[in-house]
Order: sequence, then structure tokens, then C-alpha cells
Amino acid sequence: MTNVSAPLFDRVAIIGIGLIGSSLARAIREYGLARSVVGSDRSEAVCAKALELGFLDAATPDLGEMVGAADLVVLCVPVGACAEVAERMAPHLKPGAIVSDVGSVKMAVLRDVSPHLPEGVHIVPGHPVAGTEHSGPEAGFATLFQGRWCILTPPPGASEAAVDKVAELWRRCGSRLEIMEPAHHDRVLAITSHLPHLIAYTIVGTASDLEEDTKSEVIKFSAGGFRDFTRIAASDPVMWRDVFLNNREAVLEILQRFTEDLTALQRAIRWGEGDTLQETFTKTRAIRRGIIDAKQA
Ligand code: NAP
Repeated sequence: MTNVSAPLFDRVAIIGIGLIGSSLARAIREYGLARSVVGSDRSEAVCAKALELGFLDAATPDLGEMVGAADLVVLCVPVGACAEVAERMAPHLKPGAIVSDVGSVKMAVLRDVSPHLPEGVHIVPGHPVAGTEHSGPEAGFATLFQGRWCILTPPPGASEAAVDKVAELWRRCGSRLEIMEPAHHDRVLAITSHLPHLIAYTIVGTASDLEEDTKSEVIKFSAGGFRDFTRIAASDPVMWRDVFLNNREAVLEILQRFTEDLTALQRAIRWGEGDTLQETFTKTRAIRRGIIDAKQA
């Protein structure tokens, strides 16, 4: 992690105080990255919980009041809520403020947020590739982003100074930085994150549709591989609904490729083509070793 010196921002406003928003707020606090960090969530109870947990200087559902004096606003709401939040907060943003986000899809966020921002406000979309299957302000922790990638997808002509400041914020949270075209981000994440979640939701959904007695055996013998899928399939339903609705093209394209590859394996099993199966499984084992070597396991 970079050495922390002076705070990067006067006031950061976190909108959506869930797993990611509360983790970012905690990290900003803990590493002294802003003089104050405030938050807004549509739920009064979430704001009260955040204040009780003590990682925010102020929190209220009143969006305008929280973003008014902020020099950085980070949207940490589900992707599908970004347009509505951007529209409501726009009149309250101060000139020169930076608006960023943490959404798992980037084309849709740019499309939905940019048109609402007044002149003189900079947009620097971001995606910390870090998370857990838990949600809400109690699930967050300051070290969530340590050693994980954060991908920034600034639009053409974005303010370099604004991009540098957001990049430095994530670096000081312990992240490794990558700058990408938003469309490229969405294609890469479709295979590395979105498709695996879809597969997990499908497997666990199929199992839950089985007869009652089989279901109990599914739980009993879950260590056979199923357990790892249930963890992924426990991820937030609203967040993931929005990911699939907002990254439709990339997900459908990768799903088509996946279906073809699955059919090829199905054929190999049917015709007893052991070599094909073994070759595929050997190749995938090497990918797992690569991830471990890159310390992303
Ligand atoms: P989360 O724990 O469910 O938190 C989201 C928070 O936003 C909730 O408190 C939610 O309130 C609030 N919210 C929803 N709509 C809102 C609105 N219109 N105005 C104000 N607050 C609103 O979700 P999360 O996991 O932190 O995900 C947040 C964002 O991070 C998503 O865009 C997601 O794609 C991205 N992300 C998630 C992960 C991950 O692994 N979880 C990783 C990287 C990026 P309610 O509870 O009332 O709905």
C-alpha cells in the first residue's frame, strides 16, 4: 500500500451504505483519505446503523444534504439505481466535484449517470473487483480491497487530474489499478464474474427443485463441489438482477460460447471420449494454478 500522507479529499459522500459502500467508508476513515466521510442510503435504518457502527461522520436519506459539500461522491447502489440517484443528486453537486461509482457494469453506468451531471462535475467510473456474498453496512470491512484490482473506466476526454485522484484513493485502499475501456470491462467481467454467478444460481436453483429427500442429501454431501456454488449463489439478488439486465449483450455472447463448450463436453461423455475430457480438465487446472500464482485465489 502507498504511504499515507495528507488526506486526498475534504469530504467524500458514499451513496448506498451496503457491503461495498461501508467497506470504502471504513477504508477512507482508517487510512485517513478524507477529512470527513458521510453517507446516504434510502433506508433510515441503514443510516442509523452506519452511525452506530461509527464509520461515518454523518448519514441521512437526504441525498442533497450529503452530496452538497462533497468533493468526491461515490455511488455504491445497485447498477439499476444509478440513474435515479444521479438525477436526484445532480442539482446539489458542487462545481469541480468528482462523481465515481463501484458498479459491476460500466457501460450502463456511464450511459445512465453522465447525462444528469452538470457542467464542471467530473465522472470517473470504477469497479473494485472485490466482494463477498454478504450485504449491508455490517458486512463491510476496511481491508476488503487489499491486493484486489480496481478497474477505472474514464470516458474519452475525462479530467486527468480527477482520474489520478480516484486512482490514488483506491491505491491507498490497497488496490491494484487498471484503466480500461468500459465496453472491454463489461466483456471481461462477463466471463470472469457474471457467467460464474449465473451458473451458480442455475445449479443451486436446479438442486432446490429436486425432490425433498434428494435435497437433504444435496446438503449432506455438499462438500463434493456444490458448497462452493451455494456461496456464490447466496449473493445479493437485487445487485445481480441489475448486473444481468445491464450487461445483457456481453453476457448473452459469452453464454452462447459457454453453451457450445458444454455441449462439446456432453458429446465427449456420451461417446466415451476420455481424451477430450482429460485435455479440457488439464487445461483448466493450469488456469487455477495461474490465479494462485497471481495471488487472486
Ligand atoms: P448492498 O450491500 O446491497 O448495498 C447497497 C445499498 O444501496 C443498500 O443499502 C441499498 O438499500 C442501497 N440502495 C439501493 N437503492 C438505493 C437508492 N435508490 N438510493 C439510495 N440507496 C439505495 O450491495 P453491495 O454489494 O454493496 O453492492 C453495491 C454496488 O457495488 C453494486 O453496484 C454492485 O454491482 C457493486 N459491487 C458489488 C460487489 C459485491 O461483491 N457485492 C463487488 C464489486 C462491486 P436497500 O437495502 O434498501 O435496497
